[in-house]
Amino acid sequence: MSSTHDNDTIYLDYAATTPVDPLVAARMAECLTADGVFGNPASTHRYGREARARVEAARAQVAALIGARSGDVIFTSGATEANNLAILGLVRGARAAGASAGGAQPLHVISARTEHKAVLDPCRQLEREGFAVTLLTPADEGRVTPEQLRAALRPETVLVSLMHANNETGAIQDIAAYAALCRAHGAALHVDAAQSAGKLPIDVRALGIALLSFTAHKLYGPKGIGALYVEPSRRVVLQPLMFGGGHERGVRSGTLAVHQIVGFGTACELAARQMGAEASRQAVLREQLWAGIRALPGALLNSPVRDCLPGVLNVSFAGIEGESLLLGLSELALASGSACNSDSDEPSYVLRAIGRDRETAQSALRFSLGRSTGAADIERAIAAVAREVGRLHVRAQGGVGAEAEAGASSGEAGARETGTWVRFMLKAANGRIASASHQAYGCPQTLAVCEWLAVQLPGRPWPDPGLGGALDWVRRMSLPADRLTRLLVVEDALRAALGAPQRPEAGQGTIKN
Ligand SMILES: *Cc1c(COP(=O)(O)O)cnc(C)c1O
Repeated sequence: MSSTHDNDTIYLDYAATTPVDPLVAARMAECLTADGVFGNPASTHRYGREARARVEAARAQVAALIGARSGDVIFTSGATEANNLAILGLVRGARAAGASAGGAQPLHVISARTEHKAVLDPCRQLEREGFAVTLLTPADEGRVTPEQLRAALRPETVLVSLMHANNETGAIQDIAAYAALCRAHGAALHVDAAQSAGKLPIDVRALGIALLSFTAHKLYGPKGIGALYVEPSRRVVLQPLMFGGGHERGVRSGTLAVHQIVGFGTACELAARQMGAEASRQAVLREQLWAGIRALPGALLNSPVRDCLPGVLNVSFAGIEGESLLLGLSELALASGSACNSDSDEPSYVLRAIGRDRETAQSALRFSLGRSTGAADIERAIAAVAREVGRLHVRAQGGVGAEAEAGASSGEAGARETGTWVRFMLKAANGRIASASHQAYGCPQTLAVCEWLAVQLPGRPWPDPGLGGALDWVRRMSLPADRLTRLLVVEDALRAALGAPQRPEAGQGTIKN
C-alpha cells in the first residue's frame, strides 16, 4: 500500500487516525445503496431485518475484541461520545438514583490530568453541576499508580475514569489493579481504551471493568462510530445524553448507522486476528526508531521505557524549538507537543502533567506507527530528524559565524523557557556595522527575521541601521499579528547589541561585550 506515502510524505500519525482497511470499506459499501442492505434496523419488514442481522453480527465482532457479551455493547459516534455517556451518564444516573454514600457530601469522581480532553471536559462539566472531581497527577512515567488511586478514593466516589494507554506518550496503565480497587470500593471504573483497543488484549469481564470506550477510526475502521461497553450490573445505570426512539436499550437513541457499524465490526475482527504479530513487528520498528534518535543532541524520551504501546514513541529535543523543528520535517506527518499544533498557547498539557517543562513539551514529537510502516520509513524518519535537529542545534548554539569575536558587541533578549531567545553579535567600523551574526531559538518566523537582519545589517549606520522594528518586520514579511511579541524579542536583542535606546516598555535586553 503506497497511499500513506503519497507526495513523499511518510504517515507516522496512526494514533491520530488510521486509513480504513480495504476489506472494511468493501463491507461498508454493501450497506449503502438500493442493491445493498440499506434498511433501517428498527423496521420490522425484510429490509429492516436484514439490516438488523448485519448490525447484530457486527456487535458480536466488536464485543469479542474486548471479551464482552454482545448485549453489553452500545454503539456511539466515537470514543468522545462514549466517554461523555460513561462519565456524565453514570454520575448523573447515580444522583438520580439517590446515591449519596457520604450523606451531605457531593458524589465524587476521580480521573487524571493526562486523560484525553474527551474525559477531562465531561469531568469539568460535572464539577459545574456540583459534583466533586479529583484529577490525579501521574507519578510513575506518566502512569497513575494503584497507590495513588487507593489514596484518592472516598466513601462518596462513584466513578473512576482512567485510560488504558495514553494517546501522547503511549504509557500503558495498570487497569487490572484499578479495576480491583474500584470493585472492592464499590465505585465504577471507566476505561478510555481508544488507543489500546485492537492493539493490546483487553478482557472487560475478566478484569471487572464497568465501562470501556473505544472507537473504529483508530483501528482501521471508519470515523464517526465507536462503542461503550456497559457492565450489566445494578451499579452501572446510565442516564442517556440523547433522547429519541429508545434505541440501544434506551441509552443512545438514534437510527443505527448500519454501514459504520458493519465497518467497525469488520475492523475489530481484523484487528483481533493481527494483534499479536502486528504488536511485535511495530515494537521492533519502534526500537529501531529510538536507537536512531537517542544518539541525537538533546534527545529525551517522553514515552515510558517499559509498558508502552508498541507503535508510539514520544521524544523531545532539549534546546530545540518545536515549531521550527516540525516545519523542517514536512516530509513526515507527525504530531507535536508544540503549541502551534493546538488552539491554545500552552504546549502539550499531557507532557506538562508528567513533569516536562514548557520548553521540553514544546519540542516533543510523537511518532505513531501503523500497519503500513516499514523499516525503510523508519530509516528515512531518523535521517530527516537528524538533519533538522542538527540544523536547529547549530542555529541555537552558535557556529553561525563571528561568535564572541574580539571587538564584537553582543546583545541578547528573551529566554528559551518563554519560546524565544535571540542574540546578535555585531562589529563596528567607521560608524557603520562591519559584520553581523546571530544565534536564535524560536519559531520559524523569528528565525527567518533574524536571518534577514543578519544579511541586511552589514554596511548600515551604527546605532540606527534604519531597518525599522518588530511592527515593520511583521508587515514587510506578511506575518501573522500574533508573532509581534516574538519579533519584539528580536528588536530588543538588536537594540541591545547596537547599544541603542531600548523600547520604552522593554526590560529584557542586556548588553554584553
Ligand atoms: C482518539 C481518542 C479519543 C476520541 O475518539 P473519537 O472517536 O475521535 O471521538 C478519545 N480518547 C483517546 C485516548 C483517543 O486517543
